[in-house]
Amino acid sequence: MAQPSDKPCPICKLEQQDVRVWDYGERQTVECHRCGTFTITASAKRVAENRTLGPKISAWLRRRSDAGADIPEVNSHTLNDIEVALPTYRVSEKQLLILRSFERRTEFPGQEIFVSLELDYPLAWATGEDEFRYLLRALMERGLIRRTDGPADLKDSFAFKFEITAAGWTFLDERARPSVISDQVFVAMCFASELKPAWEIGIRPPLAKSGFRPYRVDAEPHIDRIDTRIVTEIKNSRFLVADVTMQRAGVYFEAGYALGIGIPVFWCVRYDDLLNVHFDTRQYNHIVWNNEQHLAEQLFFYVSAIIGRGSAN
Ligand SMILES: [Zn+2]
Repeated sequence: MAQPSDKPCPICKLEQQDVRVWDYGERQTVECHRCGTFTITASAKRVAENRTLGPKISAWLRRRSDAGADIPEVNSHTLNDIEVALPTYRVSEKQLLILRSFERRTEFPGQEIFVSLELDYPLAWATGEDEFRYLLRALMERGLIRRTDGPADLKDSFAFKFEITAAGWTFLDERARPSVISDQVFVAMCFASELKPAWEIGIRPPLAKSGFRPYRVDAEPHIDRIDTRIVTEIKNSRFLVADVTMQRAGVYFEAGYALGIGIPVFWCVRYDDLLNVHFDTRQYNHIVWNNEQHLAEQLFFYVSAIIGRGSAN
C-alpha cells in the first residue's frame, strides 16, 4: 500500500495538511480539502504544472466529490474540455449554489454549518476567498443565512459558522428545481424520420444513463421567432445537445441562444454531413458519429467527463 505524501494539490496548489497525494506512477490519487478526491494522469499533471488552472476545475471536482459521485479522473483531454464547457454562473446563481451546499450539509434545521474561506470557495464557484466572503455577506444581507459565531461583516476570522434562516428554507423550497442544478438536458435536432433512431438510440439512452432527463420539443422550431416555451426550457436545462445533421436553422438558433446565456452545448453531426456544418470544428465538444451506437457511446463519455452525473435516476 502506497503511503501518501505531502505535495501541493496539482489543481489548486493547496499544500500541507489539507492535501494527501498517492503516487502510482502513471496516475495519482489526490485528496484535497478544497477540490475533493480525484485521480489525475501524469500527462494532465504536466499540463497543470505549466499553467494556472481556473478555479472552475476545483469547483467542478468539489461538486462531484460532495455529491458522492464516482471519483472523477482528470486527464489531458478532459482538462481542456472541462474548462471550456463549464458555465460561468451569475452572482445570484453562485449564492444559490452556496445555499444548496449548506442544505446538503444540514441534517436538521438550525444545525450549524462550518465554512472555511480558504477551503470552501469552490462551493460557490468563486474565484477565491474575497469573492466567497462577498457572496456569504450577500446571503446574510438577504436574510437567507445567519452567522452564529460572530459579527456579520466576516472580517474577524477565516472560518465561520452559519445556519440557514427560516427565510432561507422558504427560498430553497420555492426553487426546488433551479436551472443551475437542473437535471434537464435540452435536445435540439432535426425531426426528420431518418433521424428518429439518432434520438431513440444515440441521444436519449446515454443522457438517461448519465442521470439526466432529456427534453425535446415535439415539433420543428420556427426559424424567424423563438418560441417562449423553448426559451423557458433551454433556461431550465443544465446543458444542451445540438445534433446539426440535416442542417436545420432552428437547431443552430437554439444552440446559439444557450451559449449566449452561458449554458454549455455539445455539438453532434453525422459524419456524412460534417462538411456542411456551420460551427467551427476546432471547438471543443463536438461529436462526429457514424451510427447511432457510436453516437451513444461518445455522448455518454463526453457528458460523464465534462458535466458529471445528474441525479434524475
Ligand atoms: Zn485542490
